[in-house]
Amino acid sequence: MSQSRFEREARIQFSPEGYELDTLSVRAGQHRTAEGEHGDPIFTTSSFVFSSAREAAARFGGDEDGNIYSRFTNPTVQAFEERIAALEGGERAVATASGMAAIQSLVLALLKQGDHVVCSRSVFGSTVSLFNKYISRAGISTTFVDPTDVSAWEAAITPTTRLLFMETPSNPLAELTDIAAVAETAHRNDALLAVDNCFLTPALQRPLLLGADIVMHSATKYLDGQGRCVGGVLVGRDKEMEEVFGLIRTGGACMSPFNAWVFLKGLETLPLRMRAHSESALEMASWLQQQPGIRKVYYSGLPSHPQHELACQQQSAFGGVLSFEVEGEREEAWRFIDATRMVSITGNLGDVKTTITHPATTTHGRMSVEEREAAGVREGLIRLSVGLESLDDIKADMQLGLDALRN
Ligand SMILES: *Cc1c(COP(=O)(O)O)cnc(C)c1O
Repeated sequence: MSQSRFEREARIQFSPEGYELDTLSVRAGQHRTAEGEHGDPIFTTSSFVFSSAREAAARFGGDEDGNIYSRFTNPTVQAFEERIAALEGGERAVATASGMAAIQSLVLALLKQGDHVVCSRSVFGSTVSLFNKYISRAGISTTFVDPTDVSAWEAAITPTTRLLFMETPSNPLAELTDIAAVAETAHRNDALLAVDNCFLTPALQRPLLLGADIVMHSATKYLDGQGRCVGGVLVGRDKEMEEVFGLIRTGGACMSPFNAWVFLKGLETLPLRMRAHSESALEMASWLQQQPGIRKVYYSGLPSHPQHELACQQQSAFGGVLSFEVEGEREEAWRFIDATRMVSITGNLGDVKTTITHPATTTHGRMSVEEREAAGVREGLIRLSVGLESLDDIKADMQLGLDALRN
């Protein structure tokens, strides 16, 4: 007996209700075409055609749904948006050209002149510059606070505060913010809470389920996971995401279909990779902590981390990034880095390849000395994004750095 069209559709399309995270990361967001393709297709097209002038008019007028132009919507980009929204547990996602474009769009779409932002002082270096140098020109001011102190967030709120912005764990010092507590503070004051979830991804931490309103990602990092493309995304409720979508479609900071396809492939292995990154990073952090020449290791998975308990509550593991301070200053940190042989010296993180960075002179180099001091990014600090190479090989490389400290 032949299947009805309905039965056929139900069999080849996936509906995400009731499925676990590992399943969603592989299957959510794919809408198969009539070709019945198994893999996710890439729609590399700038515009879409209409069957008639009447249909064109209806689409442009908003009377009929459907694609018009890839700055507005593109099926591959939408597949990525649906998959990340399912993983974060949000109603809708909007993809952007980069992580920074996501933050900029979030602020410009949801805030206006005269509004105020409270932001963790331990956020990504460009995020600080964006708020201080550029967002401020739109008449939106920002106060930076100690991310670990919930009462500091509360104290910084003014009658014009509309947005609280945090990154937890922070880069590069792994300071944590209590998401549920700050979400409660935000909502009691009629403000939104946005969380940069770059370091843990929905595989290890789901801020929306803890009360946050918006999650932001630099897809460039773990969502891709293999260091290929730059991209970003915001996830939240329909209401706020509709505003963000309006700005992206008009302002043009959209994601390319090709990059969206790469990120879709990245999401398929996200939970698997994040578990492996976390396991290796925990082992590296414990090992580094015992080595002579290392002053301190910053990693929320260590029982010695001052917020280890909070980490266990709001995260399901501790992620792949750790930092450590060598005994000494810039010279010693550079000597350590230069003595390694395999790990990549690069500013990027969240890659299958282990990367090593001197934050004070690279990722955080554009901050003023005062801003850097306040964020605790010292000259002896080194950041390691632990990849998926053999742990023994990564350790051997770190040993070369440690040996160089002694010479
Ligand atoms: C890299 C990064 C960003 C910026 O993302 P881009 O894709 O480089 O624009 C923002 N936040 C964090 C935590 C990052 O690591």
